[in-house]
Amino acid sequence: MKYTRRKFITTLGAGSALLMLPAIPTFSEPLFSGDKKLGVALVGLGNYATHELAPALQKTSRCYLSGIVTGTLAKAQKWKDQYNIPDKNIYNYQNFDRIADNKSIDVVYVVLPNSMHREFVIRAAKAGKHVFCEKPMALSSKECEEMIAACKKAGVRLFVGYRLHSDPFHKAAMKFRTEGDSGVIYVQSEFGFKIGDPTQWRLKKALAGGGAMMDVGIYAIQAARYCIGKEPISVTAQEYKTGYKKFAEVDETITWQMQFPGGHVSNSSTSYSVPLNNLYISTERRWFNLMPAFNYAGIKGSTNRGELNLPEVNQQAVQMDTFSKCIFDNTESDASGEEGLKDLKVIEAIYKAAKSGTKTKV
Ligand code: NAD
Repeated sequence: MKYTRRKFITTLGAGSALLMLPAIPTFSEPLFSGDKKLGVALVGLGNYATHELAPALQKTSRCYLSGIVTGTLAKAQKWKDQYNIPDKNIYNYQNFDRIADNKSIDVVYVVLPNSMHREFVIRAAKAGKHVFCEKPMALSSKECEEMIAACKKAGVRLFVGYRLHSDPFHKAAMKFRTEGDSGVIYVQSEFGFKIGDPTQWRLKKALAGGGAMMDVGIYAIQAARYCIGKEPISVTAQEYKTGYKKFAEVDETITWQMQFPGGHVSNSSTSYSVPLNNLYISTERRWFNLMPAFNYAGIKGSTNRGELNLPEVNQQAVQMDTFSKCIFDNTESDASGEEGLKDLKVIEAIYKAAKSGTKTKV
């Protein structure tokens, strides 16, 4: 299939979005060698895969849904019919390693509970497949390092599903510090929601690795890091609990502060009890605010100069096309395994700081 300008613009939803995506070549250049699209197999057909990733894969230009890996027979049948997936591209968790022999699957996208990311990323790498892995990349920085090493050894690429790196509003937030006076001095980032079903895996430490912090606090860490453009040196943190039974195994609400080189600071919160959804950046004379900040759609923004008028994109489709382009062109990504590792190191420092009550080095 030829990759046309029209198709490209349609994929993004609006032509003006082009201005917000730096790593995209001009139209006179080939976007990648040949007309091939990467075949993506989704592993774990839960909410995110079903309601976001599979529909997004119908809108991508450089990759397509070619296979599925599921432990549920009924889901396999439903997806097969809905997306026209051939039997030979349908796997379960046991026979997954046979994917090594399947030439129509280039990428494995791991969308399982957090505790299963490490195992399936390493198995995918051993099968010679590139990997997209959902956030948080793993339960610990040690696991992240093992996953990065396995992908390097196998010569495959590893990306983390940081969808907001593909969102025009967040690209504007990343650029804000470079566009005026002395640079960002303060970031406030908060993401939380009221979690339902008390029996779900997100509330089980063995499966989730932690609570709100691992699930959505990671976005607030990410935002502070990419708005300030530096790595935090130390953190302080405070944990609060109201639901001792529901949150017996994992964190419910945490507030934390990160100290960055050059005196920049961030103040963040995450919660499984309180809806929070805000990103505020301040310099000496300018400010930038997104609210809601972290949703799939409907992000709204303003600055000291007025309302932000930016196009809405399908974050997941742009994300997967961007990762695919990095694979085709062999270029770096700002959502690599190394980026996932950095966040896990920060999370570990935050948990340590909350427990000890003292400032902790990252
Ligand atoms: P989900 O509970 O809806 O789906 C999990 C899937 O894993 C299901 O298909 C389930 O059958 C399967 N599974 C296999 N073994 C399991 C086990 N032992 N326990 C529970 N489920 C098991 O979860 P989800 O919301 O789709 O999240 C999956 C991953 O995607 C998580 O890592 C999550 O953090 C991530 N996620 C990312 C975003 C994003 O915006 N990037 C959004 C939602 C979820």
